Amino acid sequence: MENCTTEGSIEPGGARFGNFINYYQFNPAEERICHLPQDLFSDLFPSGGHLYALDVGCNAGNLTVALHRRYSTDQVKLTILGADIDQLLIKRAQESLKNNNACGQNINSDTIDSCDTVNTDKNIKNERLSKSNENTEKLTINPVSDIKDLSKNGDIEFVHADIMSDEGINKVKDFLESHGVQKFDMIFLFSVSMWIHLHHGDEGLEKLLEICSKLSRYTLLEPQPWKCYQTATRRMRRNGLPEFPHWTQIKLRGAELYPATIELARKYKMEVVKHFGETKWNRQLVLLKSNQE
Ligand code: SAH
Repeated sequence: MENCTTEGSIEPGGARFGNFINYYQFNPAEERICHLPQDLFSDLFPSGGHLYALDVGCNAGNLTVALHRRYSTDQVKLTILGADIDQLLIKRAQESLKNNNACGQNINSDTIDSCDTVNTDKNIKNERLSKSNENTEKLTINPVSDIKDLSKNGDIEFVHADIMSDEGINKVKDFLESHGVQKFDMIFLFSVSMWIHLHHGDEGLEKLLEICSKLSRYTLLEPQPWKCYQTATRRMRRNGLPEFPHWTQIKLRGAELYPATIELARKYKMEVVKHFGETKWNRQLVLLKSNQE
């Protein structure tokens, strides 16, 4: 069964871009990456070296940091740029790095193990309300003593950027230029494609795949299934918020969504290299290789 309980219920108002403030309380980063093979990078890049990745829609950065911890090794030095449309989340991510921590949000004893049991609308709403009233956020963080200073040595950077805007793309390109590389080796698209699709329509989804194909050798895509679109749309209605701008015009829908997304990727010279099965939220994980010059 597809499960969209979490994204449908963790934040009753707002969060129209999936910019849930306590996302990782409900979808812990470490549990996500265990679906990926340990040798993901060493397999794709056997000669190792310095590799660059872009994490599109990085939220508060927890998954970005978890990916870095898993994949930056003695053979592969990984530098990751996390980009998100939400400035507050980026600020949290940057603060966490500055504070030398692996997690931007406390995953404490209240952490919910199963998405099926999420029932904390009120808590989350209250937290977002109180956060929005604070200029300086106090982050509760997981002390992780063995984390090196990722911000100081530039292993991870976070940038406020809308990947669908020219300005956002320029920020990403500036990053590449500042590191003297032309392309990323990997773009991570974890649970972000639906938000872009809902806000920019079929053309927007296509543009996203085109961007990835041009900017990166590989793209790791975890797309939300159609059921999540319906849940997100219902949530807007329930809260009296406007419909997503492209909701009624979206043609790539229902059971067609996933195959059509892969077809679009093919249009931009990306081929499916691997499927990694489904995550706890029953989302596909697919690795695409770009054959674009
Ligand atoms: N990738 C993370 C977070 C997914 S939530 C993970 O899977 O753990 C989706 C995130 O995408 C939100 O933080 C939201 O703010 C961001 N987002 C949505 N549209 C975006 C856009 N156009 N550009 C950059 N980030 C975007």
